[in-house]
Amino acid sequence: DSSLYLVPTPIGNLQDITLRALETLKTVDVILAEDTRTTGILLKHFEIKKPLKSYHIFNEHKAVEQLAESMLQGQKMAMVSDAGTPAISDPGFLLVRECIKRDIKIECLPGPTAFVPALVNSGLPSDRFVFEGFLPQKKGRQTRLEGLKDETRTMVFYESPHRLLKALGQFAECFGADRQASVSRELTKIHEETARGTLEEITTYFSEKTIKGEIVIVIAGK
Ligand code: SAM
Repeated sequence: DSSLYLVPTPIGNLQDITLRALETLKTVDVILAEDTRTTGILLKHFEIKKPLKSYHIFNEHKAVEQLAESMLQGQKMAMVSDAGTPAISDPGFLLVRECIKRDIKIECLPGPTAFVPALVNSGLPSDRFVFEGFLPQKKGRQTRLEGLKDETRTMVFYESPHRLLKALGQFAECFGADRQASVSRELTKIHEETARGTLEEITTYFSEKTIKGEIVIVIAGK
């Protein structure tokens, strides 16, 4: 039986790999990796030896078709990204869609992803929320923000640390400086922290320090 397993990997703390993720990585024929070096280090740590195939080739439609072909011929494949869950602000979607189209079984294992702990840590309502991922960097950024002006659900954004202050400024402009929000940094890592407060308070907090590490921004709905 052909199948594709989407296997989440740790977003910092290696102990967050699941038993089933390890088991799956051990049983497949090939592992599709976003960056074979990064995944190579992870596999070495867990003493798993498997052939790795680099990701970017299957960002192309043609490569995706070829991979699906191999799966139909019986190759068991797992797909991992550098960190977290594949296809969540990472490549994966194209291959998943191709497999569904061809009746290849896909199975996404539950596991690490950054937005869930960030949302829960924020203390903002988590019964309804929208995952916005990365905002477009230039073109379309303002339009995307405009579209969220009246959003009543809690909003979750991924952002790079060097754009944090700029993003917070744009959010304050769009939602008002007194809107409640949180910024989670370095989740699952030694220097993990979550700053909570109004957009203005969080901006002040981060203005006074150099911002390092990966971050998730969570903003209260209207
Ligand atoms: N696939 C990943 C997931 O499931 O969350 C997301 C990959 S995306 C390329 C990387 C972004 O995820 C970072 O810019 C940051 O916004 C967020 N992220 C990943 N790891 C994180 C961590 N340890 N702490 C905070 N944010 C993190």
